[in-house]
Amino acid sequence: MDIKRIVVKVGTNVITNKDNRILHPILKELVRQISVLYERDIMVVLVSSGAAIAGREVIGDTNITDASTRRQVYSSVGQPRMMRHYYSLFHDYGMRCGQVLATKRDFDIGVHRQNMINCYEGLLSEGIIPIANEDDAVSLTMSMFSDNDELASLVAELIDADRLIILSDTDGLYTGDPDDEDSERITEVSCNQDVEQYVQASIKKEGEGRGGMASKLKIAKSTASKEIPTYIANGKRQNVIVDIIDNKEIGTKFIL
Ligand code: GLU
Repeated sequence: MDIKRIVVKVGTNVITNKDNRILHPILKELVRQISVLYERDIMVVLVSSGAAIAGREVIGDTNITDASTRRQVYSSVGQPRMMRHYYSLFHDYGMRCGQVLATKRDFDIGVHRQNMINCYEGLLSEGIIPIANEDDAVSLTMSMFSDNDELASLVAELIDADRLIILSDTDGLYTGDPDDEDSERITEVSCNQDVEQYVQASIKKEGEGRGGMASKLKIAKSTASKEIPTYIANGKRQNVIVDIIDNKEIGTKFIL
């Protein structure tokens, strides 16, 4: 089957270092790969986290005691910072990008959902790369996604994507500790296969950002069950997105 559109989700752990600073070379490598696919007529929707951390990077400590409000403020400042990085990187590659923020309610059936479809279809038809994130400045409690993995899955379904690629800081699902040489990477999982026992073993570190391997596994299986092959792979690996599209055996692939 011809691949025409894919969704790539990049988590906070991929685009930040251990001091919680944004890693510009990683953003650049992501954009470079998206431009390679663009040249092949494959459009990417990029679901990027990083708003809260990019805000904290500039604001630092605050006097705000309420954690939710603090997250809102960090995200409000950080989201345009992330977009400024992406905007200028895409510009360097002669491409354009646009921002689509959403809360969970926007995916409910009805006018909101249709508005989102129109927006994504409009951007894609113009060759503009949509960059999605949760609207963290206003999404709280009921309107919150469990994490950006859930958002990425909903976007993949919404735009009828041919693939979903979830980039994390591990190479996929492992039978044991990924650093242990006896552990093996599980290359393919069907969506009704029981692999939950491997989740704990596959976790290297779960720093900033919500989500985590258990959530990724659940989301990957449910997306695959909707006939969208889904990958969990290492976003710090060079050329990872292009290699997956070229069918190299990378990460863990989830199929129907
Ligand atoms: N939307 C959040 C951000 O951009 C991240 C959510 C997640 O970690 O999944 O900071």
